[in-house]
Amino acid sequence: MNVSVKTVSVTEEAAAILDRLGVARSRYSEGDIVAFSPITGQQTGKLKAMSSAEATEVIEQAHEAFLTWRLVPAPKRGELVRLLGEELRAAKTDLGRLVSIEAGKIPSEGLGEVQEMIDICDFAVGLSRQLYGLTIATERPGHRMMETWHPLGVIGIISAFNFPVAVWAWNAALALVCGNSIVWKPSEKSLLTALASQAILERALKRYGEAPEGLSQVLIGNRAIGEVLVDHPKVPLVSATGSTRMGRDVGPRLAKRFARAILELGGNNGGIVCPSADLDMALRAIAFGAMGTAGQRCTTLRRLFVHESIYDQLVPRLKKAYESVSVGDPLQSTALVGPLIDKIAFENMQKALVEAKEHGGTVLGGQRVDVGHDLAFYVKPALVEMPKHEGPVLEETFAPILYVMRYSDFDAVIADHNAVGAGLSSSIFTLDMREAERFVAADGSDCGIANVNIGTSGAEIGGAFGGEKETGGGRESGSDAWRAYMRRTTNTINYSKSLPLAQGVSFDIE
Ligand code: NAD
Repeated sequence: MNVSVKTVSVTEEAAAILDRLGVARSRYSEGDIVAFSPITGQQTGKLKAMSSAEATEVIEQAHEAFLTWRLVPAPKRGELVRLLGEELRAAKTDLGRLVSIEAGKIPSEGLGEVQEMIDICDFAVGLSRQLYGLTIATERPGHRMMETWHPLGVIGIISAFNFPVAVWAWNAALALVCGNSIVWKPSEKSLLTALASQAILERALKRYGEAPEGLSQVLIGNRAIGEVLVDHPKVPLVSATGSTRMGRDVGPRLAKRFARAILELGGNNGGIVCPSADLDMALRAIAFGAMGTAGQRCTTLRRLFVHESIYDQLVPRLKKAYESVSVGDPLQSTALVGPLIDKIAFENMQKALVEAKEHGGTVLGGQRVDVGHDLAFYVKPALVEMPKHEGPVLEETFAPILYVMRYSDFDAVIADHNAVGAGLSSSIFTLDMREAERFVAADGSDCGIANVNIGTSGAEIGGAFGGEKETGGGRESGSDAWRAYMRRTTNTINYSKSLPLAQGVSFDIE
């Protein structure tokens, strides 16, 4: 079912939200970078790109702020993040709607993204009293050895269009409680949500009262401004989320100046459905994982391996779901699948589908859908039955394409599953304990996320998030990801009256 509506002005709605959140219209009424909504294709604003000199000045100011902020006790820093969480709760409806307008997400996903910001704030507030180091046994008498964790500096955050605010919050909440300042380079495709998030943080800063000027800043611009952040010597860590192509440029640049990198790059996520799987459960998880967010999540399910004994039970049901899924304007209907971000995304999807056919694939869906917005790009999600794991299946196409393949041997399917460059998320559907355990074992999935009986997408903030191989190896959000945002010192304190050297070395001077 395709849901058709008449054009409405997302421009006015975005402006009204930004007014309520306190973003001055002058911030987005003039400039070369066009903000737009993928929902209608309409322009929602125009922003002026910063010059390199302006961006450098912002980073220098953030460095000055860091010098003060690092001395504020961590639980007090946590208070700022607690206030940010409160402000986000108050702004949830507005910001969630703006995420929908700017990223094209259905309302529950727009709100879900803001909920993720709130969750990470709660997590970080608790963390502000738990930045623990170890006390370690020393071989020398009258000595004590310990680790202390100190703030690191200005944390650069580069984010992608598809999680326009949550990725910032994952990094910002941790960086701030860890005693750092933050400079954010949002995607040039999601600048209004960035201005809104910064305005919400500024409300929290105002209530907090004593934070240094310039503690959190936003750089407006495209890739060139991102490069200023990546190359600046006073930015010891850049957390960069986006395509593997971006990571190939950013990673070596950071390495060249020995800066730290948290790289959160592309995914080409796989799922395996085994003979014992609960097929009702698998069907729902696959549908959400592959078609949700119009296939524009880094954790979107893109490759599905189905055991030959159940293929003819599962795949026809899946095809039915693909045929009946509602595609439409997510603000004007209850459609489950919204738009692609832009024309380029649509063209990339079509290119991949042509290639799939050249490799013997049978394509269901994939065509453009007319929902009454000529400038926007809506598509039917595509299910592609592939004879082999090859061709376009091996690369991430950031669009709703699910490649489906039969398998017969468990070892071989694990090998195929791992035979792609990316290593972000993965899942298996099975009630067989041996298969489940093998999938999460050392010789199972090689991804940063390996799930059993749930889909590849929709991670919670409590776990460390990130992937291996061409996904970049970074971890952010929960667990002990905070350690990347701090510098560890090992301290050995001698409270004895002699100076024994480690390893029994003697060096006695007269
Ligand atoms: P993109 O790589 O085009 O852009 C991401 C960000 O990087 C933007 O802010 C962009 O301006 C900036 N950028 C690009 N080149 C740069 C450079 N050389 N130096 C500095 N900054 C640079 O990605 P996109 O199209 O916005 O997002 C989609 C991609 O992001 C997909 O590949 C998706 O899988 C990935 N992604 C990954 C994660 C994750 O956590 N692993 C999360 C979301 C999205």
